[in-house]
Amino acid sequence: LKRTKIKELLDAPVIGKKVNVKGWVRTFRNNQFIAINDGSTINNIQGVVDFENTDEKLLKRITTGACISVTGDLAESKGKGQSVEIIVENIEILGDADPEKFPLQPKKHSLEFLREIAHLRVRTNTFSAIYRIRHAMIFAVHKFFTDRGFYNVHTPIITGSDAEGAGEMFRVTTLDPANPAKDEDGNINYKEDFFGKETNLTVSGQLEGETACMGLSEIYTFGPTFRAENSNTSRHLAEFWMIEPEMAFYDINDNMDLAEAFVKYLVNYALDNCSDDLAFLNQRALDDEKTKPQQERSELSLLERLKFVAENDFERVTYTEAIDILRNSKPNKKKKFQYLIEGWGADLQSEHERFLVEKHFKKPVILYNYPKDIKAFYMRQNDDGKTVAAMDVLFPGIGEIIGGSQREERYGILKQRIDEIGIPEKDLWWYLELRKFGSAPHSGFGLGFERMIQFVTGMTNIRDVIPFPRTPDNAEF
Ligand code: ATP
Ligand code: MG
Ligand code: MG
Ligand code: MG
Repeated sequence: LKRTKIKELLDAPVIGKKVNVKGWVRTFRNNQFIAINDGSTINNIQGVVDFENTDEKLLKRITTGACISVTGDLAESKGKGQSVEIIVENIEILGDADPEKFPLQPKKHSLEFLREIAHLRVRTNTFSAIYRIRHAMIFAVHKFFTDRGFYNVHTPIITGSDAEGAGEMFRVTTLDPANPAKDEDGNINYKEDFFGKETNLTVSGQLEGETACMGLSEIYTFGPTFRAENSNTSRHLAEFWMIEPEMAFYDINDNMDLAEAFVKYLVNYALDNCSDDLAFLNQRALDDEKTKPQQERSELSLLERLKFVAENDFERVTYTEAIDILRNSKPNKKKKFQYLIEGWGADLQSEHERFLVEKHFKKPVILYNYPKDIKAFYMRQNDDGKTVAAMDVLFPGIGEIIGGSQREERYGILKQRIDEIGIPEKDLWWYLELRKFGSAPHSGFGLGFERMIQFVTGMTNIRDVIPFPRTPDNAEF
């Protein structure tokens, strides 16, 4: 008998049909009721065991975490919480899980504890729900852009360029093949850089993505990016995934329109296609809120927050307007934002971004036209001589979720900026050439995929939305 996925059985149950299910035991109650999950849905199927006629040794092996194969007839269930169950005729243990040693017993484990067992946490409802939503979001990204005629382009992981100029890069080296292990002192034998050249793991596929839009018109990359962020925040990883569209013939306003439509689409897609998982995570977040003091609880539930973002226009504010708002506001009774009273031109800290989004506008905000000196060299200079056509999309609870800009397409101005900053022309000759031959106005942005998943799932720590988070304190497995 061929295996049926639990989701299929629950979506279209055929009462009386003999079925086989394979999965992992979540609980086994009264020597009779097995809750089985195979990851196809948040819901378990119940297997009802005829314990009087089942070998006692076998019953003992039905423990939380064990992998089993169950065959029997599908029947209507009298128990509450499920509509159908399997009247078990045959059980096979595919893999035991010693109850003395298996760390995931049926109780609520802390997220910190689960991070230490990243190889097993997919067995929990929380993480299986997150990973299913992550998958749905990957699909939605490709669907959104494909429906609009964008092409997916793979940009390189190993590259000589530092798009952000922030110096947060991992260097690529080779081991000495003659002596790949460690020497007597335990030092690793590095041979050289990438065959004699300096290369790094990419921090962004943007610059290469720009070359592709100058010919294909509208493209997007969706790949891993790496940043040597030596900080432990709840929003930064050393390895994260980024979605970066680049579009010829888009100005900064077109760019903002696309960014807003894109994130709304992703949120709507999750609401329409991940309702069981979202209902579970919504309840989880509500339970969490109850443990917080009243004044720290959020006004909206996870689902309400998602609907709000999907349905309401984002606020578009220039950097200069934002500075005025911040200067004139009192985040707490006595103190103003001291830091910003100094003067125009400073970069915003996350407390400022949070204030604008969560306290002042109470909705997602797109900040644009930032001071030139705090933004990257490739952003298009505005006529005021002081600002560039940069934009950041800021989300409640997350802060910056997207960074983007209209790109500088004028050769002379770009060349001058590169010289001012001191980037050697030999590093970017190809990038400059795009502006020499058939240059076109163009724009693009980068959405941090994990930050988007954080928003959709309501998880507060970025380590909990990627299967194997890479951070300074965790890169082993
Ligand atoms: P931040 O100010 O939060 O450090 P950034 O301005 O350095 O972000 P960008 O270079 O603008 O980041 O990258 C585009 C997007 O990639 C960001 O808006 C964010 O969503 C995401 N991102 C950036 N750095 C990280 C990181 N270390 N881990 C996860 N996502 C990140
Ligand atoms: Mg950063
Ligand atoms: Mg930033
Ligand atoms: Mg940014």
